[in-house]
Amino acid sequence: MLYDRTCQTCEKDFRSQRKESNICYGCALTRLIGNGGPEEGDINTALLTSGEMSDEDAHQLQRDLESVDHSAEEAFERQFEDYYGPDDCYLDDDEEWTR
Ligand SMILES: [Zn+2]
Repeated sequence: MLYDRTCQTCEKDFRSQRKESNICYGCALTRLIGNGGPEEGDINTALLTSGEMSDEDAHQLQRDLESVDHSAEEAFERQFEDYYGPDDCYLDDDEEWTR
């Protein structure tokens, strides 16, 4: 179930899992990393704070949080792949990155 919400920080309309959510994902993440660089877990925390995700995303996120094998950034990137489909260029970059 998604609720139509308006962010009280940037006034953007967004859809949230949380009926009482008053902050969008972007603002939640900005607030989290406002005093430094993003740390592992900040992205997931922002998603949970804003609730700005689909039911499927929420279940995926829950699995990721329960897994010690995947970082928060990888979970975030997988969600983008769910939206836009696998990106060959991204996969190539990732392979080079690990060399
Ligand atoms: Zn906002």
